[in-house]
Amino acid sequence: MKAEIIAVGTELLLGQIANTNAQWISKKLAAYGVPVYFHNVVGDNMARVQQTFQIARERSDIVLITGGLGPTDDDMTREAAQKIIKQKLVEDQQSMAKIEDYFQRNNRKMTLNNRKQSRVFENARVFPNPEGMAPGQAVEEEGCVWIFLPGVPREMKKLMEDFVLPYLQKTFQLNSEIASEMMRFIGIGESTLEHELYDIIEKQTNPTIAPLAGNGEVALRLTASGSSPSDVRKQIRELKNIILSRVGEYYYGSDEITIAGKVLELLRAENMSLCSAESLTGGKFIEGLISLPGASKVCQGSLVAYTPEAKHKVIEVPKFIIDEFGTISRECAETMALNAQSILESDVSISFTGAAGPDPSEGHEPGIVFIGIQVQEEQPVVKKFHFDGSRDKIRSRAVNKGYELLFH
Ligand code: ATP
Ligand code: MG
Repeated sequence: MKAEIIAVGTELLLGQIANTNAQWISKKLAAYGVPVYFHNVVGDNMARVQQTFQIARERSDIVLITGGLGPTDDDMTREAAQKIIKQKLVEDQQSMAKIEDYFQRNNRKMTLNNRKQSRVFENARVFPNPEGMAPGQAVEEEGCVWIFLPGVPREMKKLMEDFVLPYLQKTFQLNSEIASEMMRFIGIGESTLEHELYDIIEKQTNPTIAPLAGNGEVALRLTASGSSPSDVRKQIRELKNIILSRVGEYYYGSDEITIAGKVLELLRAENMSLCSAESLTGGKFIEGLISLPGASKVCQGSLVAYTPEAKHKVIEVPKFIIDEFGTISRECAETMALNAQSILESDVSISFTGAAGPDPSEGHEPGIVFIGIQVQEEQPVVKKFHFDGSRDKIRSRAVNKGYELLFH
């Protein structure tokens, strides 16, 4: 079985948009074990679209086409395909009713071109489009399956998920068991992670690996398809072990777990209590833990103090530290962690002080943050960071960094 994807649209050739449709479809098909051999991009030109279709017919069993189903004159995918698919184009009643209804409700006059969008091949299997006007369709012609999908990514994805994949699965008896796992990492950037796994990501077909990033964390979604549940589980396990052998030190858990949840789990397992002393994070760090079930076994509390006076009164930071080093300093962060630990009688204490921006504070640029950690009677550790971004970003990056430091 061989599949290929044809994206129709001059804007793709002009570089105005990227062919994300082909990428998305390929990933999906790979997960179902369908090998994709070619991606084509062709402009809105009848002769060249026909030529592309003809080449596809010679070499593929499944041809997926996106784009060119719309109402304008440059949308000509179906008409071009008639050169190969020797069937009449007829109006699909359900789609037509939807188009008519739309024009009626909006008090707009419908043109012949608008009717065009509802056209499907006479013997096509029609996939109604809940997100747009033009339906998708599948046509079998001389042993080749032609799938037509709208160009708008949201519409295309919906039709693929709801109709095309189940249809292909049935027609070609594709792998029916699918399993996936989201591996979560912290303390490693997306590009470094991808670099470390470059060769595996490059040659992926099944399981597939999709990197995702956000909120100072990266994740990898592994998706495997196979003939039985144990088969897919085995595939995921094997790939996961390879990934862990390379970047295992940054991995903290899979699927639903968050880094805050992981920190809580680790402290619970060690039977250790935790507290925080927070300035720029304003209690966000402890809030992330207290929002989780089971926090009461670990979290003692937090001392939140924003002004220098409050740091003195609430966290008992001595005046001379504030005067001599400032509140945005190693010395202040260390004292905050130490004092909170003794005031709240906790095994582990963490402190946050820094400049959240947008203006500099005590002569420090926005994003300069000191995080102090005190674990039982060990030497306190203070680390200095420079986070980028808005005030919100800086504050949430500081919180996440706090979880990361406790995890490591
Ligand atoms: P419409 O009915 O909206 O005209 P259509 O099926 O005719 O849909 P196109 O006109 O080709 O599709 O594309 C509609 C929009 O979808 C484009 O403007 C573009 O933003 C997006 N699009 C089209 N093809 C792709 C693609 N291959 N990858 C990503 N986005 C695409
Ligand atoms: Mg169009």
